[in-house]
Amino acid sequence: MDLKINLPEGEMPRQWYNALPDLPTPLAPPLDPQTKQPVSPEQLEAIFPKAVIEQELSTERWLPIPEPVRDIYRLYRPTPLVRAKRLEEALGVKCKIFYKNESVSPAGSHKPNTAIPQAYYNKLEGVRRISTETGAGQWGTALSFACSMFGMACTVYMVKVSYNQKPYRRILINAYGGEIFASPSENTKTGRAVLASDPDCSGSLGLAISEAVEDAATHADTKYALGSVLNHVLHHQTIIGLEVEKQLAAIGEKPDYLVGCVGGGSNFAGLVLPFLPRKLSGEAIRFIAVEPKACPTLTRGQFRYDYGDVAQLTPLLKMHTLGHAFMPAPIHAGGLRYHGGAPIVCNLANEGLIDATAYFQTECFDAARLFLRTEGFLPAPETSHAIKGAIETAKKAKPGENVVFLYSGHGLLDLASYDAFLQGKLTDFAYPEAHIAEALKACPDVG
Ligand SMILES: *Cc1c(COP(=O)(O)O)cnc(C)c1O
Repeated sequence: MDLKINLPEGEMPRQWYNALPDLPTPLAPPLDPQTKQPVSPEQLEAIFPKAVIEQELSTERWLPIPEPVRDIYRLYRPTPLVRAKRLEEALGVKCKIFYKNESVSPAGSHKPNTAIPQAYYNKLEGVRRISTETGAGQWGTALSFACSMFGMACTVYMVKVSYNQKPYRRILINAYGGEIFASPSENTKTGRAVLASDPDCSGSLGLAISEAVEDAATHADTKYALGSVLNHVLHHQTIIGLEVEKQLAAIGEKPDYLVGCVGGGSNFAGLVLPFLPRKLSGEAIRFIAVEPKACPTLTRGQFRYDYGDVAQLTPLLKMHTLGHAFMPAPIHAGGLRYHGGAPIVCNLANEGLIDATAYFQTECFDAARLFLRTEGFLPAPETSHAIKGAIETAKKAKPGENVVFLYSGHGLLDLASYDAFLQGKLTDFAYPEAHIAEALKACPDVG
């Protein structure tokens, strides 16, 4: 058997999959934070292009991938599915382990899969500039790459502490032509107000979201883009699982376990959702979501309506949440430090269709090191959670079963965290129950 299962370009999927019509229980609608009534499409038009809003609310099972989007996807897609044979041997397992390598994209993660169509739909509707926030910088990198492909401007509000501590993503965003502000910035009313009262504020993702949304809402030529959580982002990511389905079929195999890490849930959903119809029709296939113990949204959060951001500006989403006031410990997997999750993923988890597990960061870095020393690639700290989950799954799997995990990104710009790990300086954080209960008190009451 070949180690790498490559699909020819001509076999790249022509449609994304929308899981909404197949959910066993309907998705609870997003609510206006003031009136607590369902948000209307018109309300969203201030910050999103119409085509994106249509996809967000669509009940069509298949959404065509526009030709200009496929054309850019072809720069790195289809991505390889790789048999991790040396990892299997090191573990002494009898099952097969495969990983779907999304780190081969220009930005180094799965995030361009949605950045490219989002930039495209904005371009079609005459938008000149896209604003967004970024935490560790992976989403900002993906969006500035996508905007450069369509000759658009991109403004990124990067959480100030990361802006100062992680210069390489900032440089990459600049190199793609993106404009970048450390948030809180002087560029928005929200930012100026925060700086006036606290000039040394180190920022937060919630604050950066508020700045990016304000920028879009106050400029006619500018819209906002989000890199995870929302339905349309998950649809775009399903190209991952659709390719995996074809790649496994090409060698006469089927997945028994699908494993991915969960921050907002977009890469995990992209892998598993295309297999939802099979699972619902009774096929024995397990969806395994892996999160950090420091931010245990699916394993310890409550399934209820909450705000998407600290500033309480976003619509209320029904999701597993640790409370929008939750401040996760400073673990190195920055992309997994989100208090909530994608409503589609949370809906399925609530139905018992997803198994969620949580691990400490040092055990994930241990898994990443084993992967590095057997398979050769250096995973992102986020991705190390998927690797840990896959290893634990493989140890329990039966001979001949297939474990497929999603390699969401490389860690070549996260070397400082590997340095800390190798020097034994990493600390483990579990979130104390009392803190969760306290943060959940701030959740809105929705009748
Ligand atoms: C952003 C990111 C994640 C987490 O985001 P999801 O929306 O949960 O996919 C995971 N891995 C990498 C490499 C990322 O950049």
